[in-house]
Amino acid sequence: MQTVTGYFKDAAGKASFIRKMFEKGLELKATFGADAVCDFSLGNPDVPPPAAAAAALHAIADDAVKPLGLGYCPNAGIPSVRETIARHLSRQQSMPLSSADVVMTVGAASALVDIFRATIEPGDEVVVPSPYFVEYGNYCGHFGGVLVPVPSKDDFSPDVEAIARAVTPRTRAILVNTPNNPTGAVYSRADLEALARLVDEVNAGRGEGERTLFLVSDEPYRAFAYDGVEVPAILPMTKYALVVGSFSKTLSMAGERIGYVAVNPALTAEDSGTLVSTLILVNRTLGYVNAPVIGQRLAAAICNETVDLSIYKRRRDLMADVLAGAGVEFQMPHGAFYFFPKAPGGDDAKFVDALLAERILAVPGAGFGRAGYIRLSCSVDEAIIERSRDGFRRAAEACR
Ligand code: PLP
Repeated sequence: MQTVTGYFKDAAGKASFIRKMFEKGLELKATFGADAVCDFSLGNPDVPPPAAAAAALHAIADDAVKPLGLGYCPNAGIPSVRETIARHLSRQQSMPLSSADVVMTVGAASALVDIFRATIEPGDEVVVPSPYFVEYGNYCGHFGGVLVPVPSKDDFSPDVEAIARAVTPRTRAILVNTPNNPTGAVYSRADLEALARLVDEVNAGRGEGERTLFLVSDEPYRAFAYDGVEVPAILPMTKYALVVGSFSKTLSMAGERIGYVAVNPALTAEDSGTLVSTLILVNRTLGYVNAPVIGQRLAAAICNETVDLSIYKRRRDLMADVLAGAGVEFQMPHGAFYFFPKAPGGDDAKFVDALLAERILAVPGAGFGRAGYIRLSCSVDEAIIERSRDGFRRAAEACR
């Protein structure tokens, strides 16, 4: 007998490369000690939250022990938090938003799941530039949605013409992620405007009874941009834009699970709030009920701060030096905290195994929809990056 659906048998199979790395990592750490392993496989932000988080948490603790201090809150979020985040996003997205345009969610992850629950019917399609964040397939797949990956260009910028060709009457969303996991690419204003125009044109051609095409922008790494590169605001580019974000990375509070969806006010007005009220409803009925209340208060108190981004910049520069020294080809990431270098010799599984022999953990690119590359996460100390130098050189030589 089958205890789970066919979907989950398949999904578990697809996720096995991450599990394999995780298990290998545990094994290596148990045998040689945690310090002997250079683990670049996980994206768990290790830089401490801003110092202001401590005072904010003390104030929250005092309020939390009052009646209902830890009780349920409205499904859309604590009203004062929603207002604060709406003001924060108005500045970030360069357009006035009110709390009616913002829904607080359980991280960016559940913001995306909410959007797909609200908009996807079985067989509907979500077009995504590849490589892409590995969970996207599950986020829409839970509701019968089908991810349609469209290979990005060699510099990892989106191929807008190929994306346009991939759009069909069943396409419900073009999903972009900038700054990008796994490539570190930051999409240009010109590319995003071209995607926004595409979405407007497609919607203009869809009749009254047909469903909307959205431009969904997943932006948990928005603050992580280096070298003066602009991270453009997408919300004003088209009324069909939905911006998803979170404080997991910018405030190093991934475990507190606070994110949001922001809807263009023009769309909220046009559909009389139907999309927003449906997002709020699914936030409840998918079982989240509301985003965690301590995390919401913390995010609102310090949303205008970030972790020390100079730490990530130094790690990026050091990792670039290590890879260049090993003769590994890569695009310099201008955002997020990942590298997506080419596997020397072209076989990502072989390179990952050679790195494992050097006690270096990396993830094969095939799992992100692009074989022949590997993903490295720089959410580790500079000392670990430095320590991996000789191992990278030997592993690269072994694969050439
Ligand atoms: N989107 C991308 C591209 C991510 O890399 C992640 C987490 O790593 C998420 C969404 C989910 O983030 P959150 O912790 O905000 O749910």
